[in-house]
Amino acid sequence: MTQRRENGGSGLPFGLPGEGPGGRDARAAATVHALSIDVEDWFHVLDCAGAPDPSSWPLQPSRVEANTRALLQLLDAYGQRATFFILGWVAEHHPAVVAEIARHGHEIGSHSYGHALVSSQTPGEFARDLDRSLEALHAAGAPRVECFRAPGFSIGPNEAWAFDILASRGMRMDASLFLSRRAHGGWPLARRRPFEIWAPGGARLMEVPVVPFRLAGSELPWTGGGYLRLLPKQALLTLLRRASHADEPAVIYLHPREIDPTQPRMALPAARRFKYYVGLDGVEDKLRAMFTAARFDTLSAVADATAKDPPLVLTRRAA
Ligand SMILES: [Zn+2]
Repeated sequence: MTQRRENGGSGLPFGLPGEGPGGRDARAAATVHALSIDVEDWFHVLDCAGAPDPSSWPLQPSRVEANTRALLQLLDAYGQRATFFILGWVAEHHPAVVAEIARHGHEIGSHSYGHALVSSQTPGEFARDLDRSLEALHAAGAPRVECFRAPGFSIGPNEAWAFDILASRGMRMDASLFLSRRAHGGWPLARRRPFEIWAPGGARLMEVPVVPFRLAGSELPWTGGGYLRLLPKQALLTLLRRASHADEPAVIYLHPREIDPTQPRMALPAARRFKYYVGLDGVEDKLRAMFTAARFDTLSAVADATAKDPPLVLTRRAA
């Protein structure tokens, strides 16, 4: 009986232990979740045949300004704040959008300049791309940039060198780790909250990772991408409530194009096409429901206010 009621109430295809209809407490109500928006255009698809070549980006009909403005209005309407990880290319070609995000009081971070996977770059290439992104953000009027998210969450164990480069450019926080296996890497770690990274070269950064929901050996990375677009609204609200009850802030991640169901469609391979375009119609409604149910803030604010998990120690020991 209990199991059936839980399944029916959550909208999920499995039961959630201990989730009664009246299960609210003060701590859950106080949990503030993190909202992140990777600011790129509809054609900035990663590592995929059929996507426009970077040389053609300036020729594409851009929708990033209009979609970002719509998101800013939505956040204003619900009094929510977010971290915007902006692509340097977008800052260079659409500087007005950077100033507008800053004017609305949100945090600004870098999402690289050219949207290349970290795993496809040498440390030197990564550093040059990062520098170019920071120059473009500053030229567009961004305040000091101190946080970074890699395209495709593409920092894994083999790219740990990137942390020292990030710190050397003034980054204090990183949001590039996805604690589950995924197409572009992922770094499965048994952590649920922000934690410090002690980088191989000795630098230290705060990490605010994307954490999947885990139950009985399965993982559901529900806080963004195709999962957020596919899951029913009630399931998302249940997962959000579970995160609140565990005092584990969810890190929601979105792109401006995800609230734009009429964006141009690229000729992508079938699997990528499904993953990229599924569920666009329902995203705004789901965001409104989540913004009504809980408070969201920048990743830095959430990291400051949350108990930390143990550091990830990657520092090389002296011989
Ligand atoms: Zn991206």
